[in-house]
Amino acid sequence: MRTFTRKVREAVRYFLRNGYSSREELECWQSVIRDAAEGETSSDYLDRVSRHLRHTYEMQISHAKALKRHPGVSRFTLNYIEPKLKTELDRRILASVDLIKLNRQKAIATTLSRFSGWASSIPPADSIALRGVQGAMLKTAEHIQKSAEQVDFEARRVMIDQNHKLIANIDNVIATDNNAIAAVWHSHWRQPGYDYRRDHKERDQLTYLIRGNWAQKKGYIKPGNAGYLDEITQPGEEVFCRCYVTYIYNLRSIPQEMLTKKGKQFLESLKAA
Ligand SMILES: [Zn+2]
Repeated sequence: MRTFTRKVREAVRYFLRNGYSSREELECWQSVIRDAAEGETSSDYLDRVSRHLRHTYEMQISHAKALKRHPGVSRFTLNYIEPKLKTELDRRILASVDLIKLNRQKAIATTLSRFSGWASSIPPADSIALRGVQGAMLKTAEHIQKSAEQVDFEARRVMIDQNHKLIANIDNVIATDNNAIAAVWHSHWRQPGYDYRRDHKERDQLTYLIRGNWAQKKGYIKPGNAGYLDEITQPGEEVFCRCYVTYIYNLRSIPQEMLTKKGKQFLESLKAA
């Protein structure tokens, strides 16, 4: 994974030491860098990304951690819808590889063009020996190395984000298949150092109605102050959002204010019986 970064660093060091001598030499280094970039194939990412996402899937589905967000849904049901969940996993893996590839191509192009501009502006070796390399030139060199390191950094970020999106989509499949009626938002805003979105913090602990659910069709519940779940961005939808929702499957767990008169009567009749 790091061959590209290493080659960029080597090239920068070479030009700092030897100065710019000819177009040919620069082109030679450009192709060394490009080869290093292309030597790391997408199958490397496929491996890394799929290992990471598969692990999450294992935890959430095989070890049933997802059920914590779906009280009332059984292990049996989870097994039953597994083919659908598996599809989510495969889709997420493909999307991640595409994203990483795209980001990478961009970062490589930027690095190469910065490097070429910089290298060709360096004086020849004898004048470097005479005057030394100026501060600005060293700064630019650092800048180029940073943009090369960005390649790996971005790949890691995509992986973390896609991991969270996988969990959100798994949840969505489970909730849809089991007729969830509402969802409670959870934000990590209390966690120190977490860069939360202000509007997501405001959603924390609010209950959102799922539009058209069976209980609403029967006239038992209505949206509360928070409104419908489909009126807001979904957890994990916005970049690096780590919020999640827990789902409500039965009337008893719905906040009073969302129950209609008919709903309350229905609950009473259940208690009486
Ligand atoms: Zn969020």
